Amino acid sequence: MNSNLKCSCSAHASMQPVALAEALLAVHCTDCGGMVMAMDDWRAWKAVDPAREPHAIDDDVIEVFDATSVRHCPECDRLMQRLRVSAGPDFRIDRCIACQNLWFDQGEWRALVSRGLAGRLDELLSDGWQRRLQTEEVREVRLAALRRRYGNDCIDELDRIRAWLDTQPHRDELLALLRAD
Ligand SMILES: [Zn+2]
Repeated sequence: MNSNLKCSCSAHASMQPVALAEALLAVHCTDCGGMVMAMDDWRAWKAVDPAREPHAIDDDVIEVFDATSVRHCPECDRLMQRLRVSAGPDFRIDRCIACQNLWFDQGEWRALVSRGLAGRLDELLSDGWQRRLQTEEVREVRLAALRRRYGNDCIDELDRIRAWLDTQPHRDELLALLRAD
């Protein structure tokens, strides 16, 4: 990790090294709590022992302060991609494709560690995983709209009937019977 980075926050301070695990260093800004980690460093660290897990840095914050604006890479100034960490309304982490740098706003690293995701960053950031989260998010938005429209009781009952139908060997005939007069 380039240790001469300046943070893009208003303090524009030099970022300081911070240990995320044995032999895994990142840099962070002591002013805004933002942190930059090189994915190459993470991969090299992980390659030694695929089962190892990073630890949470003690940033004294439980909440996550996710900046909603698009961020520039502190190393090359290109726009960073915002990547989902879950399908819900959750924080996102930023990645520079060119430098393979990740940016974590204050509290984000701790949140990833506590969810067991900090040791699975390669999976989390993969196209497949990101697509799955997006599909799930679309499905959840649709389901929420259905619940608003028809009410929770109705949708719960529908789920119960659907689950029961799925266990029936003559599912399609039963469905046809339901539709018939
Ligand atoms: Zn960059």
